[in-house]
Amino acid sequence: MPALKTVAAAVLIAAGSVAMAAASPETYEQYRQPGLDKPVIRQADILPLVDRLRESELVDVKEIGRSYEGRPIFRLQVGSGPMRVMMWSQMHGDEPTATPAIFDLVNFITAPEQAKWRAGWMDEITLVMVPMLNPDGAERNSRHNAQSFDVNRDAKALQSPEGRVLMGLAKEFDPHFGFNLHDQDRHYGVGDTGKMATISVLAPAYNRAREVNDSRAGAMKLIGVLTAAIEPFIGGHIARYDDTYAYRAFGDTFSEMGISTILIESGAHPADPNRQVARRMNFEMLVSAIDSIATGSYRDTPLARYEAIPFNEDDAIVDIKITGLRAGEGDTGYVTDLAINQRTGGAQVVDAGDLSNLAGAQTLDASQWQYQPPRPFQLDGDPILMLDDSRYRELLEDGYGYFVGDPARLRVDTELPVAINPRNPQRQRPLRRRDATFLLRDEAGVRVAVINGEVIELYQQPSATGQKAR
Ligand SMILES: [Zn+2]
Repeated sequence: MPALKTVAAAVLIAAGSVAMAAASPETYEQYRQPGLDKPVIRQADILPLVDRLRESELVDVKEIGRSYEGRPIFRLQVGSGPMRVMMWSQMHGDEPTATPAIFDLVNFITAPEQAKWRAGWMDEITLVMVPMLNPDGAERNSRHNAQSFDVNRDAKALQSPEGRVLMGLAKEFDPHFGFNLHDQDRHYGVGDTGKMATISVLAPAYNRAREVNDSRAGAMKLIGVLTAAIEPFIGGHIARYDDTYAYRAFGDTFSEMGISTILIESGAHPADPNRQVARRMNFEMLVSAIDSIATGSYRDTPLARYEAIPFNEDDAIVDIKITGLRAGEGDTGYVTDLAINQRTGGAQVVDAGDLSNLAGAQTLDASQWQYQPPRPFQLDGDPILMLDDSRYRELLEDGYGYFVGDPARLRVDTELPVAINPRNPQRQRPLRRRDATFLLRDEAGVRVAVINGEVIELYQQPSATGQKAR
């Protein structure tokens, strides 16, 4: 049988045990804003939602500034209490996950059946939400704004309109709590557990000594409440960042200003390409934050809860991990694992050897197979090569892995990945920093082709398919 599998399915425990208002797992779906389950979210996706909220008696919508390219930046305000809570998402344009979570939260807050719940806190809390602080970056699906600035490195210089909008709001509103909502790289893991970091948190430092004053302790305690709230859903997938002080960043700067600042980074989860698990966890945490701030319950939470959260581990998760592959021949034969990541220039083998320290978003047990270098297929003949599924599979079984020559001599008529004129083709042995395009064989012949980091099973036609890692 095909050995390709994901580490685990995204299983949400449907327990009613979460100690929070009415946001039980059974009811989340009804508040989940439709239309935002996608990898890229631009301002056009949220403008109709913002417009609709102008009709609401509960939500005050205000334009608080414009991006460098003149796109409006909005804040949504709810409640009128003395505790001031501010949150902002998508400061990095290509980190959209918390933006839908904010609209889920607004749907929840404004739902008629939640009248009693919101009445319990609207006199205690004033809540200000800025969905999509960097709409120009969102338009380009880029971290940076239209000036090519990382807005989160502009907290001191304030040369970006988006940074000035955020700082202006913070100074005017003077929040007690600030929620800085981001996305993190999919390769982060939780310590050395091999589990993806789906939610990572931080109470940022306000100086190089990383001291803890009252406001930072407040953030740490509240984080302890929030992570406990999502533990029943994604226990084991929660991590925290180390608190190295970042002078130019907003979180650290707000922390300096005495705001209890909470960084939430949404990350990957198995079989969840659009980060809908992290989206929901943001929702759960934000609802939980409202409850805990309104009642003051976070104050009684021990700091030890925050300190017990394992650290984020960079590069702990690779897109595909191949294990136990035989390579070399005869006396020079050996067994190796391979790690593959999708990169800007294409999929690459990023590591080889004993990779028991890594986990794969996908894993392929290759212990029954031998590495076979891909042969180039020369595109120079007549007629044009018509590459449909069956012809392509024949070529792969014959040991061809990629095409070289004039691409006009090739008509691609398959959904399977095809490598044409690769820059760094693999050689006799599988090597790092070379393309993730090669073949796996046993005594009977070529069984699997890995082409541009996608796995094509050749022994089970025609149901076998390539699978793409995100
Ligand atoms: Zn970010």
